Amino acid sequence: MTETRPTAVVTGASSGIGAATAHALAGAGFHVVLGARRLDRCEKIAAEIDGTALPLDVTDAESVAAFAAAVPEARVLINNAGGAKGLAPVADADEDDWRWMFETNVMGTLRVTKALLPTLIASGDGHIVTVTSIAALGPYDNGAGYTGAKHAQAMLHRTLRAELLGQPVRLTEILPGLVETEFSLVRFDGDADKAAAPYRGLTPLTGDDVADVIAFAVTRPSNVNLDQIVIKPRAQYDAMRAHREA
Ligand code: NAP
Repeated sequence: MTETRPTAVVTGASSGIGAATAHALAGAGFHVVLGARRLDRCEKIAAEIDGTALPLDVTDAESVAAFAAAVPEARVLINNAGGAKGLAPVADADEDDWRWMFETNVMGTLRVTKALLPTLIASGDGHIVTVTSIAALGPYDNGAGYTGAKHAQAMLHRTLRAELLGQPVRLTEILPGLVETEFSLVRFDGDADKAAAPYRGLTPLTGDDVADVIAFAVTRPSNVNLDQIVIKPRAQYDAMRAHREA
């Protein structure tokens, strides 16, 4: 059967915000292309939402090229693949952690965006959503590798917003606070106890909470551009301050 639904590409769709966004966009009528390194997980979600799963490592130029070649048409791109590694003061910074964060969040977003931009423009109503973070709003202690990467990713996205004026492409930056996903497990190398600490004593956002907002932004009329959406749990003020029940 010929595909009649518009296509939305979600990077980092194998877990957390990306997986939830794949579900939300399928619910909004999109054919969703899911990309991540853990293809088995993407395939499982794709089967549930009648989508397409493709292998994608955003840190690998060849992988991105092969991914883009398999997506001839796309109207929406969700730049979601990313994350943090470590939580160390600058004095103890681990260069490999920093490289991972810049390669994944910054260079990964650059590669995928460049590769899909022609088809997004050609769609006549393209939309690029980039999931940065409240870490793109300012520094926090021990977070310079992640805040630095998220600021750079945000600059890429915000610069593109101006560079694409006159083209039929909208750009929305999503800046979440605490969302309970695998983010913290990745940051702390699978240490479940350390990973649970940021969420203790408060009700964090879920991937679905963020996905809902992304689906809202993407389904506005094409003259309506939601530039930046900051979304935090009620109990969180910023990256350094939250109210926690004992
Ligand atoms: P998550 O559950 O760890 O999901 C991260 C996703 O990124 C996974 O699907 C992972 O897939 C993918 N990914 C990582 N490296 C990749 C690579 N090299 N190539 C392709 N995909 C890659 O965490 P999440 O919270 O949903 O994170 C999604 C985005 O939200 C990230 O950009 C993160 O920085 C941002 N964010 C999260 C929070 C939070 O509190 N959770 C707050 C603000 C912003 P594979 O491992 O299968 O490749």
